[in-house]
Amino acid sequence: MAEPARFLVDGMLGRLAKWLRAAGHDTIYEPPFDDLLLAERARREGRILLTRDHALARRRGVRCMLIHKEDLNGQLQQVLERFPPADAGSRCMRCNVLLEEVPPSAVQDFLPPHVRKHHRRFWVCPTCRRVYWQGSHWQHMQERLQHCVQGHQAVNRRVQDHLD
Ligand SMILES: [Zn+2]
Repeated sequence: MAEPARFLVDGMLGRLAKWLRAAGHDTIYEPPFDDLLLAERARREGRILLTRDHALARRRGVRCMLIHKEDLNGQLQQVLERFPPADAGSRCMRCNVLLEEVPPSAVQDFLPPHVRKHHRRFWVCPTCRRVYWQGSHWQHMQERLQHCVQGHQAVNRRVQDHLD
């Protein structure tokens, strides 16, 4: 399995940050979004800086990836083709921290009845206490992530066909 990557995301890419967390990648998205401070933090913490800012992406001594697509799917695809999902669903989408699995008895008072009935495994974010389970919302997210990765592979295959 691919290793989770470590990202720092600029102020224009908040939605992308959430999806990268869903893909299992350690992704920091928090103010200040000042260029100089972002570059310093990326360098200090050994993170890859994701930015839409050409000048920031050219800054020396920082590992950067210039995000050139406007739409979320395109952006997600650009990052996931280089850094495939790793342990997707392991992280809180809001807080970026790793989720902890808990026994059903610990969370059942907080769950809607149909969830209690159909799911046996639950995870809690140690920071915001949000409860996660692998329901339909989770499955849709996994499908969308998979679609982004496969979209890239399909493009590769087309290129390959063309070369043959
Ligand atoms: Zn959380």
